Amino acid sequence: MFKIDPIELEKHRKVADDFTMKYHLNHKHCPVCGSPNHFSTYVGYILKIDENCKVDESFKDENTVVCKCGWKGITHDLIPEYNTEKVMLFILLSPAIVIHFLFIWIPTQIIMWIITPIIKKSIK
Ligand SMILES: [Zn+2]
Repeated sequence: MFKIDPIELEKHRKVADDFTMKYHLNHKHCPVCGSPNHFSTYVGYILKIDENCKVDESFKDENTVVCKCGWKGITHDLIPEYNTEKVMLFILLSPAIVIHFLFIWIPTQIIMWIITPIIKKSIK
């Protein structure tokens, strides 16, 4: 017979919640237009977790999704969240990193390379 241990149950619930949260972040946006706003059916698909708290990674949410752009598929075909803020930050920061590297890091290295032997000589 099954013996339900509340601690085990809580652990399983947490694992299931974490997996579901990540799954929904990875399957959120329309693969055609990138929109997160679409119509979807709400059938619950069972997530299998074994006695060692390991999630069955082959889990597939097969709810039907219809996007405003006309795309139709299942939740599993949706793509991860596209983080515009992170992309913008990267675009803004990358020239700053290049400039920093060219005009600060490299000259510093050259100056250090020239100065170090002089300092070493003056110490002797
Ligand atoms: Zn779409």
